[in-house]
Amino acid sequence: MFDLEGKKALITGASGGIGKEIAKVLIKHNAEVCVSGRNLDELNALKELLGEKCYIATCDLSKKDEIIELINKTDELLGHIDIFINNAGITKDNIFLRMSENEWEDVLNVNLNSAFSILKLITKGMIKRRYGRIINISSVVGVTGGAGQANYSASKAGLIGLTKSLSQEVATRNITVNCIAPGFIETPMTEKLDDKRKDAILNSIPMNRIGTPKDLSSAIIFLASKESSYITGQTLHINGGLYTN
Ligand code: NAD
Repeated sequence: MFDLEGKKALITGASGGIGKEIAKVLIKHNAEVCVSGRNLDELNALKELLGEKCYIATCDLSKKDEIIELINKTDELLGHIDIFINNAGITKDNIFLRMSENEWEDVLNVNLNSAFSILKLITKGMIKRRYGRIINISSVVGVTGGAGQANYSASKAGLIGLTKSLSQEVATRNITVNCIAPGFIETPMTEKLDDKRKDAILNSIPMNRIGTPKDLSSAIIFLASKESSYITGQTLHINGGLYTN
């Protein structure tokens, strides 16, 4: 139903569990996609899988100069960016009293500050071309908070605030800015949680199952499509009922 033919997308964290699925589904719907991440081997493997509509640009998002290079490289490969999926993210969990300055800064840098830097570089082009679809991957804990995740939940709440504000500034230019807030999704990020924590989370999900990256695909495609043109500034929760707002 949704056709992204002619549209050019950049996705960060594309070698991760959710990022890989987003790259696949964007290409399946005919977009050209620049997949970004830190690990060239993983990105090459992804390109092998996704074919000629997949382009590669490595970037460590904690480094501002690499972010500038990423956008230059993406422009070189794709010409411009219509769709930006801000997906890369990290956790460095710790109880607040033990959380170090580094644990705070590292998470805020990768999860939130890099979004600011990338959006500064790409929004002007979208405004000029009068088209854009920006999707920030937040998290349920950006709304609920989470013990041991002050850094992570602050970064994800920050993305929601950034989304709301930017959406208002660019709304007249046919640019939408939205968040997807996943609940608990099976990926390398959640693999590292111990079984006790996983069981506790599972027990709190009304659908009684942990999500998979595929559970996010249709929402991504919809928000990335021209058909979602009147939806902006929103946060769509995808969590099996774990949190309702
Ligand atoms: P993941 O660990 O599989 O993937 C994260 C990706 O981010 C990886 O590709 C990693 O290389 C990349 N990344 C990390 N640090 C980076 C850096 N400095 N520079 C560039 N890339 C970097 O995790 P995932 O579950 O696929 O997470 C994807 C997004 O979804 C994240 O923003 C995460 O916070 C969010 N999220 C995940 C869940 C979940 O349950 N898995 C829930 C809510 C939100």
